[in-house]
Amino acid sequence: MMPRQATFTVGRFIAIGQGLEGLPAPGARYLVAHELGHIAWRHGAKTATGLFLIGLGMMLEPIPEVALGVGAFGLTMLMVVRHYAEFQADAFAARLLGWPGVLEGMQDVDCYLQRPVSPMRKVRIERARRAIHGKPSH
Ligand SMILES: [Zn+2]
Repeated sequence: MMPRQATFTVGRFIAIGQGLEGLPAPGARYLVAHELGHIAWRHGAKTATGLFLIGLGMMLEPIPEVALGVGAFGLTMLMVVRHYAEFQADAFAARLLGWPGVLEGMQDVDCYLQRPVSPMRKVRIERARRAIHGKPSH
């Protein structure tokens, strides 16, 4: 059975998804380097803070002017982290492996998991190609 969640971080821990034991080295190196990027950028803590502020905003409902500010700040924080997190983690991985290592690793993982490539993944693959070749490739 193929894992739905390949790999993720919890605080300073990296959880490697079940079924990835046979992942070839380029893919495994990329996964670890990418997850180290999430740890370095503290994406988990930022996500938790965003969620906490949204919850706090809901609790402050009796004071609407404060509640709205706190909730909106938390939501913005969450959206910004969600938008940039994967790009930042890939850029961190590129510092360790180089962009060719990142590109090869991503393709390795996708091939190994035999999963459809998501639109977001396509953007990240394209970004790695641009970093290598300096222009979009088709
Ligand atoms: Zn990630």
